[in-house]
Amino acid sequence: MYRITVKHTIEAAHRLLHPNSPAKCRNIHGHRWVVELTLAGSVLDERGMVVEFGQIKQAWKSWLDSHLDHVLILHEKDPLLKAILSVEPNHRIYYLAGEPTAENLAQLLYNQAQKIIEDMPGVWVEKVQVAETESNIVECLGKAVVAFDYNSLASTEIALASGNFIEQLQSTRA
Ligand SMILES: [Zn+2]
Repeated sequence: MYRITVKHTIEAAHRLLHPNSPAKCRNIHGHRWVVELTLAGSVLDERGMVVEFGQIKQAWKSWLDSHLDHVLILHEKDPLLKAILSVEPNHRIYYLAGEPTAENLAQLLYNQAQKIIEDMPGVWVEKVQVAETESNIVECLGKAVVAFDYNSLASTEIALASGNFIEQLQSTRA
């Protein structure tokens, strides 16, 4: 069996909403998130590859850059979401149906990685690692038992695609 890993770095801000989260995490703050995607496969193609690095890197980096790089990542219930968009409608915000922790981001990225490799037979996602600092590192190895529905993340992507966050918010809250 082979494992291949691609690494990409994004810069994004977030804050946690839960009152029991550490106070400093409830302030908006930024991280240089280092994201590593590890794929695995046991069959090599005619080129001697599990999958071509370039193909994965392009899909992976472009998704990360267009959705999470230089954005503010918030819980969808965070009052800052509407507040910021009401004065800055084009502000890049990515909102999750749960807390924007490294764990939830890793799960989101794990799910996204599975979509990227859908048409790559014999390849599976081994893990997604998200490091928010040099010493704070989370690995997602599969579907987590979570307190919220990840399917609702779909609405986030629609909002980003349309670029009209306010309209999306109003329609999803209606
Ligand atoms: Zn943080």
